[in-house]
Amino acid sequence: MKDFIDDAKIQTLLEEARDPDPSEIREILAKARSKKRLEPEETAKLLQVEDPELLEEIFQLAGELKKAIYGNRIVFFAPLYIGNKCINNCLYCGFRNSNNAIDRVTLSMEELEREVITLEKEGHKRLILVYGEHPDYDADFICKTMEVVYNTKIENGEIRRVNINAAPMDVEDYKKLLDTGIGTFQIFQETYHHKTYSLLHPAGDRKADYQWRLYGLDRAMEAGIDDVGIGALFGLYDWKFEVLGLLYHSIHLEERFGVGPHTISVPRIEPALNTPFYRNNKYHVSDQDFKKLVAILRLSVPYTGLILTARENAEIRKEVIPLGVTQIDAGSRIGIGAYSKSQALLPEKEQFQLGDIRSLDEVIGELAEQGYVPSFCTAGYRCGRTGEYFMKLAKTGLVQNYCLPNALLTFKEYLEDFASEKTREIGERLIRENLEEIGKKDPARRNFVEEKLQLIAQGARDIYI
Ligand code: SF4
Repeated sequence: MKDFIDDAKIQTLLEEARDPDPSEIREILAKARSKKRLEPEETAKLLQVEDPELLEEIFQLAGELKKAIYGNRIVFFAPLYIGNKCINNCLYCGFRNSNNAIDRVTLSMEELEREVITLEKEGHKRLILVYGEHPDYDADFICKTMEVVYNTKIENGEIRRVNINAAPMDVEDYKKLLDTGIGTFQIFQETYHHKTYSLLHPAGDRKADYQWRLYGLDRAMEAGIDDVGIGALFGLYDWKFEVLGLLYHSIHLEERFGVGPHTISVPRIEPALNTPFYRNNKYHVSDQDFKKLVAILRLSVPYTGLILTARENAEIRKEVIPLGVTQIDAGSRIGIGAYSKSQALLPEKEQFQLGDIRSLDEVIGELAEQGYVPSFCTAGYRCGRTGEYFMKLAKTGLVQNYCLPNALLTFKEYLEDFASEKTREIGERLIRENLEEIGKKDPARRNFVEEKLQLIAQGARDIYI
């Protein structure tokens, strides 16, 4: 397969984009405002903007675009680490095979059930299951864990969407996941820069094969999984290069399958137990550059969801969410088995250190106070609004007809079943305000949504449109 990441070309684009002309930048912003995907040459110019006034315009527009396409809802999920065995030796990772400080564990099906019940009691409806790369974690094992997650239910608690972050597979294995009801399959390239990739992934390891990983999501899509997620681990190489790598990856999927990635994740490297790489690293991304890269991604691929995780601390999340983020996790625990043990941190069982260990309720309360509607919606994939069909709805703005009502309905469920008194109060007010807004544009729609909300207040669950 042709390698669609051309390092020399990316470097040249960045070189040529230095000291961009403000009028040219404003033309690019005008194009972004019309919700058109940007070309790499245009994104490269945005990446080279240093002027504070122009940067402010970029930040402003990123927030506006997110609102115009997705509204004021933020989707919530939780990560669930299934096992930390790994055959690879990625230098930056706490789970690398040679790291003897890590306690190697894989959840038994009973332990997995306990983790899921704990998450359901918090109010979660969407999970991403995470696995190291190991023969024990093959497609059959992953399917078994997905089944356990879907089948574990408590009163008013169930997981309705399971996403997967695991090693790249072949088409036949992806088909097994599809048959078991996968939501999104996620693979992060880590770094798109070939030389850095070779340095960080020792020869002989499965992961050393850059191309196998790069085409991992092509095979998922060939198998019929039409929601895929890409990402880069920011801080392994020049962040501007990685943004262009992500853009080229999106363009490749768009050209080949008619639809780009469903989501882009922007993890920044964090310290991990017994992992000196972090201390000696020279590519750390500053908070200001991090904000810039999120905003520029928002402008470059307007219809792709952006995921910001609890790797980041609460302060940074507060600053970055308004720049176009569509999904976050909260109440996250990443030590294997940490949810049911109520342990926020389990360093010897974690891949890296988490930055935001607040509870789901606390994060939801804070966001609702700021006017964001927390959403646990899983309707899209259960109604077949995925892949190319989802993109069509997003591009015509129709997705908002579903997104906001479904966000309100799932938020209402959360408030009824799991929220603290304080969050419930803030949430009910927010729901009323949003209903009023809907009513100003479309009174019939407001009545329709209000009826459904009343049904939830009377005890009905899992209502979606
Ligand atoms: S990054 Fe993934 S593949 Fe690499 S060592 Fe860590 S768990 Fe294994």
